[in-house]
Amino acid sequence: MGEFELIRNFFAAAPCAQGGEGVALGIGDDCALLAVPPGEQLAISTDTLVAGVHFADPCDPFLLGQRSLAVAVSDLAAMGATPVAFTLALTVPTVTADWLQAYAHGLNRMAQSCGVALVGGDTTRGPLSLTVTVFGRVPAEQALTRSGAQPGDLLCVGGELGNAAGALPLVLGQREAEAHIAQPLLDHYWSPQPHVAIGRALRGAATAAQDIADRVHSDWRHNAPACKVPLELDSATALNLHTCRRLFGQRGAERAALSGGDDYVLAFTLPSVELPALLANGWPIHVIGRVAEGQGVILLDREGHDITPQIRGYQHFQETP
Ligand code: ADP
Ligand code: MG
Repeated sequence: MGEFELIRNFFAAAPCAQGGEGVALGIGDDCALLAVPPGEQLAISTDTLVAGVHFADPCDPFLLGQRSLAVAVSDLAAMGATPVAFTLALTVPTVTADWLQAYAHGLNRMAQSCGVALVGGDTTRGPLSLTVTVFGRVPAEQALTRSGAQPGDLLCVGGELGNAAGALPLVLGQREAEAHIAQPLLDHYWSPQPHVAIGRALRGAATAAQDIADRVHSDWRHNAPACKVPLELDSATALNLHTCRRLFGQRGAERAALSGGDDYVLAFTLPSVELPALLANGWPIHVIGRVAEGQGVILLDREGHDITPQIRGYQHFQETP
């Protein structure tokens, strides 16, 4: 199968590639064309997943298809943007019809559940890697950025933390659990649902937001300079770890939530006056800390002692750990 046949069979023919709201021109020309309504801005984000770095190789191609799009759409959610379209740059070592079919199927499933259209891409031969670029729209001046946190704001998460990290030993076959415990964790790991609706609900309320793509602690430390404020995280009191705790117990779940990644839950800062209305609307918001005066990210235990761990998120070009 040649490059063009591959594109046609597996991607151009997929239901998610048949256009959608905001797509003026999809796959097949030199560029796709997107229409942005007056008064709105285009939010754009790219994510690359490399075999052996971001996912085990081999792995289930259907689940990989879902995941490769979910991680990118999660960035739109974190900006409060509405997903419109995406492109896929696919590099594969060999053309295996079954593998591509399953990958495209997973990608399509996630695309349809997020309401986002495949509008183009590139297809090359080489070590397996997947680059997804997503495009979303957001009313001008209303995007949720990482930089607006103010001293006194609450630090919140919009959902459960630690489930993806909790699933990892199950995915890697290092651990087994009964199906009723394992399945919810595996669902989180393989079918992360980007929190688009909650991101939109936070427009005009949150002062800063991001998705927890890496680790809650190191993600916030990385972004603390942008926040220009220190974040005090209550390590234990308020993390919502229900599912993860069933496998690891409270302490293990706390560790998974703080040092594991890939939950794609939104973390954000919020003036406390905004919280009651959001909770009243049913959003699963949990306060995990607060914004103080000064600099840095500090992890506090139940008694308020500083227990900041020396953990870092994965850094690709770091020579020594
Ligand atoms: P070009 O020569 O301009 O790079 P290509 O031959 O690579 O164009 O691609 C032809 C069309 O198919 C373009 O519209 C491109 O966006 C689309 N395309 C290529 N690869 C993919 C893919 N993996 N998924 C979706 N669309 C793709
Ligand atoms: Mg090309």
